[in-house]
Amino acid sequence: MSAIAGGLAALMLAGCNGGTDGGSTQDVTKLEGTLASADPLTLTVHMHFWGTNVFDDTWPVYQEAAKRTNITLHGTASKTNTESDQVFNTMLTSEPLPDIIHGESKNLNKAGTDGALIPLQDLVDKYAPHIKAIFDEHPEYKKATLAADGNLYYIPCLRDDAGPAQGWFIRQDWLDKLGLPVPTTVDEYYNTLKAFRDQDPNGNGKKDEVPFFDRHNSVDKLVGLWNPGTGDVTTFGDYSIDKDGNVYCARTTEGYKTAMKELAKWYAEGLIDQEIFTRKNPREALFGDNTGGATNDWFSSTMSFNEKTKGKYPEFHLAVIPPVKNVEGEIKNQFARNATAGIGWGISKDNKHVPETMKYFDFWFTEEGSLLNAMGIEGTHYTVENGEQKYTDMVLGYEGGGAPNYMRTIGGQEIGYFAELGPEIAGMTGEAAEGFKEYADNKWTVKAFPSLSYTSEEERTIAAKGTALTTYMKESQQNWILGNKDVDASWDQYVSDLKSLGLDEVIAAYQAAYNRQK
Ligand code: CA
Repeated sequence: MSAIAGGLAALMLAGCNGGTDGGSTQDVTKLEGTLASADPLTLTVHMHFWGTNVFDDTWPVYQEAAKRTNITLHGTASKTNTESDQVFNTMLTSEPLPDIIHGESKNLNKAGTDGALIPLQDLVDKYAPHIKAIFDEHPEYKKATLAADGNLYYIPCLRDDAGPAQGWFIRQDWLDKLGLPVPTTVDEYYNTLKAFRDQDPNGNGKKDEVPFFDRHNSVDKLVGLWNPGTGDVTTFGDYSIDKDGNVYCARTTEGYKTAMKELAKWYAEGLIDQEIFTRKNPREALFGDNTGGATNDWFSSTMSFNEKTKGKYPEFHLAVIPPVKNVEGEIKNQFARNATAGIGWGISKDNKHVPETMKYFDFWFTEEGSLLNAMGIEGTHYTVENGEQKYTDMVLGYEGGGAPNYMRTIGGQEIGYFAELGPEIAGMTGEAAEGFKEYADNKWTVKAFPSLSYTSEEERTIAAKGTALTTYMKESQQNWILGNKDVDASWDQYVSDLKSLGLDEVIAAYQAAYNRQK
């Protein structure tokens, strides 16, 4: 045997036996630019989330990524089943496992703890400089991603949490018509809604205006006005965290009780949609017939009603306004979103190309990888003007819901990457973008309840008792708002019922998880 042939055989043998990092024989840290493998390599991926987002080998975003990294992904999940959790669990019984496993954090952390995914923390340091940089800059992102056993089992989808999730909207044309300023305090807001109710701003001679309504069939968007919380964590939801780091129920506070009393009054006075808890497609219904006055919702989709109503109601003008000040006089936009989206991807125990996969994961954290996932391919999906990326008209005008939904059809998904605010704003029309920016620049939005990693026991407690508690809180809220029960008369019973249902245990589970993360 010649020396060359012998060397080749040894090399091939090394390739088959597997080196220390799962079989790779190349030093990926020495590869040029965004390459993640010296030779073209195909890796299998399981991606099936939120029911209908299933990896498609024809997605242009991934074909482009293959050109830049030398790694092609091949999806293994079927589109026929829409139960993502079930598909995930079935996938875990396959042998070998797909090289890359995408999913929600609860499933990934469990799979990791059970041994299906490998720990990534050391690999990040070794092969993924861009991921390492963001974890170094924001240790809280990494902490929020670690499993309860302390390992990092997936690379998370992260987003700039300076961005608001939802904002306050009001009919500017109605304010103008009635000669009213933009309301800034609870009293002003109340009086504005009263004027909408009484002064026929839609001009049809009927008292048919619905001053405030909410698409999510809830009054929760208004509760924060009286229930601001003492910390910087939102009180929108069942639980919050006070300024000393104590988890508490946001629906048993004095502020919440006051909110229920006030909002029951607002409802009784006709300031809140009389079908608030049951109406289907409220925005389409109430903007569609020119009776809706104010709401609180996502920027882009809500602002699109200015376009949608143009033909029918030329004067229709919905505007973003700053969040109304709460009773403490602060602006706290309570509908917040987490920097960690609770989703990402990891490396399975059967993956034979761990360094390459890690380098590939890192690609999506580079500027060009992030832009590719968020905006697609330059020239086709976006153009650059004066240094700013703009979606093309084809993407912005997508009838299935504009840029965010168009991006899904070409592969822009919640993978492990950092979502900048820029592309999100680029997907909005003028006024929505301005409003979104104003909220972001002023940092009006408080923090979301953090995403935490739970032990199996904590998770069982939260799943079993937390669900019953949420249901009971919701029912009680509806009874108060609709006037079926008196808040003062039933409050003590309400609190004691919650305790019987296990409120203290659920709070203790959140507290333990929060303390561990801190
Ligand atoms: Ca009217």
